[in-house]
Amino acid sequence: MPKNAAKESVMDGSTSFTPYKEKKGEEYMNEQQRDHFKSILMNWKRELMEEVDRTMSHMKDEAANFPDPADRASQEEEFSLELRTRDRERKLIKKIDKTIELIEQDDYGYCETCGVEIGIRRLEARPTATLCVDCKTLAEIKEKQIGG
Ligand SMILES: [Zn+2]
Repeated sequence: MPKNAAKESVMDGSTSFTPYKEKKGEEYMNEQQRDHFKSILMNWKRELMEEVDRTMSHMKDEAANFPDPADRASQEEEFSLELRTRDRERKLIKKIDKTIELIEQDDYGYCETCGVEIGIRRLEARPTATLCVDCKTLAEIKEKQIGG
């Protein structure tokens, strides 16, 4: 048995932050709101990058510790799992970068499909969301139909 079980998959959710408090009559996606989401995304990205670093150095350490071929086989299994996790993390980092770009272009927070406001609470739960709840639900139904 590998002594370190591979880590669970990366959550598609962000790290801790203080929920945004809207003022009365505040404009959607004003500068303050954009800053708020930008900092959530930046923190999230930093944590992911630290995680990728940790995985890499962990793999290097472990590889050096198992000169026995039998041990190496189980190590390789663990490594491929970690590589998949890392791949997911890298994709997520790319998605976060794209989202930060959207904020900078003042294009963030609106549904890609129908153009409605996605909403602050939904974005806080899923900062990389590009669809409103309705369009997301519809997309998921379609995905299931295609997948059989
Ligand atoms: Zn929509």
